[in-house]
Amino acid sequence: MDKYVKWSFVFGVICFLLYFIAAIFKSNLWGDILSPLGTLSSFIILLHVYKKSERMKNVWLMPSIAALIWTFSDIIWAICEILMGINPDNMTIFTLLYLFPNICIMTSGLIYMKKFIKGANAVQLLLDIFVISTSCLVMFWFLFLKENIFLFIKDVNNILSFIYVITDFIIINWVIIWFFSVRRGKVTKGMYITLLGATIYAANDLVCTYEYFYHLYVPNSIPDTIYLLSFLIIAFGGISVLQYNNCKWAYEFYSQTKNIGNTKKSLILLLTIPIYIIFKGFDFDKILILFLIFTIYEIASNYVQKAINNEKLLNDEKNINLILEEKIKERTKELLLKNDDLEYTSYHDFITNVYNGRYLKKRLDDIIDQKISNQKITIYYIDVDRFKTINDTYGHDIGDSLLIEIAQRLQKETDENSIVARLGGDEFVIVIEGDLSEDEVEKFAQKITTSCNESIYIENYEFNITISIGIASFPTDATSRNVVMKNADMAMYYAKSKGQNKYEIFNSNISNLILEKNEIELLLKNADYNNEFQLYYQPQIDINTNELVGMEALIRWNSPIKGNISPNKFIKIAEETGSIEKISDWVMNTAAKQIGIWNKKFGLNMKMGINISPNQLDSIKFAHKLEKILEEYDLNSDWIDIEITENIAMKGEATLGKIFSMLSSMGISTSIDDFGTGYSSLSYIQQFSFDRLKIAKELIDNIVTDLSKRHIVKAIVMLAEALNVLTIAEGIETKEQLEVIKEIGCNQVQGYIFSKPLTADMFEENFLAVEKVEIQ
Ligand code: C2E
Ligand code: CA
Repeated sequence: MDKYVKWSFVFGVICFLLYFIAAIFKSNLWGDILSPLGTLSSFIILLHVYKKSERMKNVWLMPSIAALIWTFSDIIWAICEILMGINPDNMTIFTLLYLFPNICIMTSGLIYMKKFIKGANAVQLLLDIFVISTSCLVMFWFLFLKENIFLFIKDVNNILSFIYVITDFIIINWVIIWFFSVRRGKVTKGMYITLLGATIYAANDLVCTYEYFYHLYVPNSIPDTIYLLSFLIIAFGGISVLQYNNCKWAYEFYSQTKNIGNTKKSLILLLTIPIYIIFKGFDFDKILILFLIFTIYEIASNYVQKAINNEKLLNDEKNINLILEEKIKERTKELLLKNDDLEYTSYHDFITNVYNGRYLKKRLDDIIDQKISNQKITIYYIDVDRFKTINDTYGHDIGDSLLIEIAQRLQKETDENSIVARLGGDEFVIVIEGDLSEDEVEKFAQKITTSCNESIYIENYEFNITISIGIASFPTDATSRNVVMKNADMAMYYAKSKGQNKYEIFNSNISNLILEKNEIELLLKNADYNNEFQLYYQPQIDINTNELVGMEALIRWNSPIKGNISPNKFIKIAEETGSIEKISDWVMNTAAKQIGIWNKKFGLNMKMGINISPNQLDSIKFAHKLEKILEEYDLNSDWIDIEITENIAMKGEATLGKIFSMLSSMGISTSIDDFGTGYSSLSYIQQFSFDRLKIAKELIDNIVTDLSKRHIVKAIVMLAEALNVLTIAEGIETKEQLEVIKEIGCNQVQGYIFSKPLTADMFEENFLAVEKVEIQ
């Protein structure tokens, strides 16, 4: 609180006390001086309250104007009485001036009530206003007018008095109505104090007006001091309200002042009876009227309160229902969302976001088994070539990114009639619903192949992906989901076996091939190696001297069930199924043992060429195995030559580089097998340390007639010379071929012209027991 406000209040109280003493001692002079000083201090306080309050400012402006007018009137009064010696007692101007504070306070009450009424129940409020006003009017009629209305109309002063009385009654009316209506919520003490001040003011004014009206009024008597007291009380109330005015709960009070609930406040109405008795004595009729007013009010009010309560209960219930409904809606929404989530995750692949196998199965079942559509469907079974190698070499994160990119490309190429799903690993399936011609089926396969072939860039790496596709359709190729999927898978498998980046439409041939493959796979698993496998040896001859330089070990399989099976067939299957490692071990052992026997027996220095599958080159284990074999059969390391197919270039430089240098450091020579048919370029291959290039049979086949092939072979030979490695031509069958090869400058030859691969016995008999090789 500001200091000046505090001091003003203290000053005002002192003025009142002195004024009260002056009134007792009937000192008019001091009364005239102290009264305006006291009300002035009230004015200062109320003005401060007006300025500082944030809500209902005008409620405080009105009483401060009232105090100001009062001060002003008091000063004029004092000037008249003290300085001018005029008796202001009967001057109408003062009656008029002192009426303004009444009007101001009444207006303030009106403003306050207007805000306050907003939160009140209209029926109860009207009832309150009606009953209280009636009680007041009845009292006024009985006590003041003595039941004679004409008393007031006698002269101007009387009319003014009448207005005084009316304003006082209205003020008292407002206060009582307010008091009746506030039944809930907290009311600031300050407000009670202020309204008490207003009531004292109005009641005191009634007393003064009564005195004045019946010419009993004495200026600066006790009732006059009460005016000052009431102003000070109103001002004090204002200060108290100000302390809470800006707090939240004070604001809540304004919004909660609803006249709900039982109250015994109406008993106040009964006060009219003792008041009447005090002033007028016991009059049964009048007392009965006053009591009747009270009773009627009680009954009506009770009824209204019940109605309000019922309405409130109904409203509360409605609100609770609304809240419940809202909660249920929210829960349902949450559950639906969760359900959507669950459905999404259960039907989608978490890496690529395309559908998963589960969904594909369900969808195909819907289409095929439940025949929801009579349409044809085409299934594209897609497998990413060499994906395992990429995954192993570059890590799973890059592998995943690659799968995501491929999934996106596949999705881009399909429309809303198609489903793209990932079955797991690097296998995708596209299902197209609708009648497609064979041409359209193939075109789509080409489209997705081209799309996937475009370079993919991930973390500074460039990938050129190829895919193998198997195509099967329903109901042409099969009438159940299982079979149609199996057919597409088989077609994909067949496409892959024919080389990379191919597609194949399912036909019965494929299924026979696949069946055979499965059969071989099974036979391989159960094969008795020493009885069923045998190594044949094909000589390798120095082209210039015609001397034997070594031989290549070539496996033969005589299955007791299927008879002779070509290595071209079963080696691939063994590579896929993993049995190649065991087979290779057997080959290495047998071939190594054999070269040891031969070289020692005949005092030679032949090289045994052993074919090694790219899969095995993954491990250091391979080098250790070789080392062990050399030791076991007591071999010179340069008696072994490892033939590694050109396609291993796909394995990744780091791994390959390691293998080549490891073998070379062991003194074992290496040959690049089937060179010229694969993808690796000459410049790529030259980074590895190897000893010999085996020129593929495909390049030799037409070399006599095909000039371009001859040029290629020439280039290869020149490169080999530059790299300081040997060349050996494979599959030489005719003298002409041999001539051309010799002319080109190849170092060695291998082929039917010298000999087909032979059993160990035959080889020994034909090539080792004789001095020089004869061309047959
Ligand atoms: P390859 O390494 O290219 O072996 C040469 C193939 O060409 C052999 O077929 C051989 O019999 C054949 N050949 C040699 N000279 C001629 C010729 O003048 N005319 C014709 N028409 N063919 C000739 P084979 O023995 O059927 O072997 C086929 C493939 O199987 C081999 O191709 C090799 O990749 C694989 N293979 C054979 N044995 C083994 C083995 O022990 N381990 C592994 N990993 N692969 C083997
Ligand atoms: Ca070979």
